[in-house]
Amino acid sequence: MTARVLVVDDVIPNLKLLEARLTAEYFDVVIATNGYEALKICERGECDIVLLDVMMPGMDGFEVCRRIKTNPETFHLPVVIVTALDQTTDRLRGLEAGADDFLTKPIDEIALIARVRSLARLKLVIDELRSRADTSASLGAAAFPVKMDNGLGGRILLVEDRPNAAQRIQSALGGRYEVDLETDAHQALFGAAETDYDLVIVSIGLADFDGLRLCSQLRSLERTRNTPLLLLADLEDRQRILRGLDLGVNDYVVRPVDPNEILARVGAQVRRKRYADALRSKVMAAMEMAVLDPLTGLNNRRYLESHLSGLLDQAAERERPVAIMILDVDHFKRVNDTYGHEIGDEVLKNFAARVKRKVRGADLMCRLGGEEFVIVMPDTRLATAENVGERIRSAVAAAPFSLTGDERAIAVTVSIGIADSVGGESVADLLRRADQALYLSKNSGRNRVSAKAA
Ligand code: GH3
Ligand code: MG
Ligand code: MG
Repeated sequence: MTARVLVVDDVIPNLKLLEARLTAEYFDVVIATNGYEALKICERGECDIVLLDVMMPGMDGFEVCRRIKTNPETFHLPVVIVTALDQTTDRLRGLEAGADDFLTKPIDEIALIARVRSLARLKLVIDELRSRADTSASLGAAAFPVKMDNGLGGRILLVEDRPNAAQRIQSALGGRYEVDLETDAHQALFGAAETDYDLVIVSIGLADFDGLRLCSQLRSLERTRNTPLLLLADLEDRQRILRGLDLGVNDYVVRPVDPNEILARVGAQVRRKRYADALRSKVMAAMEMAVLDPLTGLNNRRYLESHLSGLLDQAAERERPVAIMILDVDHFKRVNDTYGHEIGDEVLKNFAARVKRKVRGADLMCRLGGEEFVIVMPDTRLATAENVGERIRSAVAAAPFSLTGDERAIAVTVSIGIADSVGGESVADLLRRADQALYLSKNSGRNRVSAKAA
């Protein structure tokens, strides 16, 4: 996971320090010494995350943040305010200006990296959704703008077994949100999967259950993987807070909980979730049958080519890798010949579903036609893609595909070809290289994964 981080500070040694720390963690760093310069860089789309100093001559950090967050071109950029002042009022001012987070100087290195990493992950998903929404729009689907709302109202699940602490949070949030309290972690998991919560707040110090385990379970469930998670922690839980952020927790609040702070943080999370939800439903609404394959529900070749072309341009611009994978079911003609075309169709459908479960949310799986599929993996190198390919190959071979209303189950295998690119080549050329790799897999006995480097 990498990202381009814009560091804004008027003091050069501060810039150098942050640059060195971020570069050591393989982030790309862009720097600006004042707010005006920073806004230009954001508008040109040259960064993924902004680290913003507060005290700067000309325009202060709060104002820069406000402008980033009110400009439709930039409001999706995560902003972290970096301040020397450990004052609650400054934190609140920052959050009110729309900041996603803040760090205090001197900067705690681990907290810095954990925050930036977690925001980078979020940004990757949002970018992917934005780009899919744009692709659908360019294919003729109605374009309608997606706005950020105020993050107020909605339903929150609070998982806390200490009555006083729960009471405190309920009264802080109660006026603006509907808060369901759950004291048992197992029940909480069921509740979160059944109800479309805007946010789940988890106490890290539950008496009978590890709060982080609950967070990790929530992250891995299909129904809750996009639900924002906020940890309630004590200051001495520092290491566990960091583990939480690594697990995909979105934010945390340290006890004793300040009512204004939790309100602002909850607002920021809910706003972002609604934005991502709105983008998702825009993508759904815009997906006309023209870009979907009716059998598998996957996108079709037409969509793939259009989307991939935009992705390759972006990869070239940002020097980021894109990997693609072509999958072709082995000896599929035999399945049709033996069982008939209809059963063949059912196998293809189940095959697509099984493979799809093996790829990340940011990856795009399409049906190229017949028994051929393509998976597009943004920001992925060849070696990683090969691992994913191997995981898919073995998942397909591991068990035959069962049929509805039929005792028989049909075993198939898949051959896979992989290629990567940093853009600058055509969709056709990239597909051709992946196809050459696929040909290698077929020729060396099928049921295997081959790769062809750029
Ligand atoms: P291999 O890829 O291992 O070389 O052999 P194959 O038999 O899978 O490859 P080939 O390209 O010769 O044949 C593909 C077969 O897939 C031909 C056709 O019967 C079948 N097929 C293609 N599209 C569909 C479809 O939509 N439904 C069904 N049931 N079968 C299809
Ligand atoms: Mg084929
Ligand atoms: Mg085949």
